[in-house]
Amino acid sequence: MGTIRTPADDATLPNATHILVSNSSGKDSTATLLLATEQHPLENISSVFCDTGNEHPLVYEYLRYLEDAIRVPIKVLRQDFTGWWWHRHGYVRDKWPEKLRKGGTGRWAWNAPKEVDPGEKPAKPLDIYTTQQIGHWKWKPAQRPMSDIEADDIVARTLAVFDKGPTGNPYLDMCIIKGRFPSRTRQFCTEFLKTKPATEYALELIEQYGAIESWQGVRADESRNRANLAEREDVGGGLTIVRPIHKWTAEMVFEQHRKHGIKPNPLYSMGMGRVGCMPCINASKDEVLEISKRFPEHFDRIEEWELLVGEASKRRNATFFPSPGDNDTAMERGNVRQVIKWSKTSRGGNQYDFIRQDDSPACSSSYGLCE
Ligand code: SF4
Repeated sequence: MGTIRTPADDATLPNATHILVSNSSGKDSTATLLLATEQHPLENISSVFCDTGNEHPLVYEYLRYLEDAIRVPIKVLRQDFTGWWWHRHGYVRDKWPEKLRKGGTGRWAWNAPKEVDPGEKPAKPLDIYTTQQIGHWKWKPAQRPMSDIEADDIVARTLAVFDKGPTGNPYLDMCIIKGRFPSRTRQFCTEFLKTKPATEYALELIEQYGAIESWQGVRADESRNRANLAEREDVGGGLTIVRPIHKWTAEMVFEQHRKHGIKPNPLYSMGMGRVGCMPCINASKDEVLEISKRFPEHFDRIEEWELLVGEASKRRNATFFPSPGDNDTAMERGNVRQVIKWSKTSRGGNQYDFIRQDDSPACSSSYGLCE
């Protein structure tokens, strides 16, 4: 088993600080966890994985393997949306009837990475009910005021979804409550499914241990955002963030696995370039194609989710990947089947222009909770 420490070895190590390693089940977080075992007694280390409910089954299997092999407990957190669910149920019942009759105003949304200067917002378009794009600004269409019959129908269909109660799948419950899927510009999945539960757990540990170090397996060469992160940050309140493999290359990460006799997540050897949601909303064209060939059942599930989330949406449609269509055509032009079809083409790359064409990390979480 390589160089995993035993309790006897631990007698030689410094103690006191509790180390919490963020775990995505990917190669970087495993390498970070292994590094922690080299530098700290095992009883001072724990690890946390945030289960989105949109994971490949091999991820759970790998976490069990890792826990057994490294002998560090991995806490699995699943966000519970029950409270939000019933709050939303009340909101739809009490507020939607009037809102839908009244309609909604459209708005320009910035559709580019934060570091790009947005400049001045364009003037309101003449046709406020149709999606439009000027540079990186995208017009989110206004909602037409509805007739009483239309509004009552939408409220009844949405309440029928909520009356059944939460599904228990965090990702799906979150999207039903929001009436939409997250997108690159509104990436609330990271916040609700990963950052929030992980932060709450870290606070619990701070209460228990007085202070902790949160170790995050992010590397500078993954993206510009990650390159700008500090290797060590004293956040205060008993929390210090440490990014011990910030300067490591991918090769060093795999070498760390070899050194300890630990297998990387098997999804890498099945053609996946990264490990995270299956699929991630930010999947690249190639990843969509690869997943559709190897794990088509995951897209079958997404297809069912699109219908369910669409039922709970004011617009009556919801697509997992950003759709090039307007409110009326979005589902026909952008549902997951259309995106898979497009992923098989060699051209037509700007049809779904939000889908990644580069190889930057899919998830913007700087916590190392998504790879
Ligand atoms: S950004 Fe992707 S990997 Fe991260 S939580 Fe959202 S869907 Fe999952």
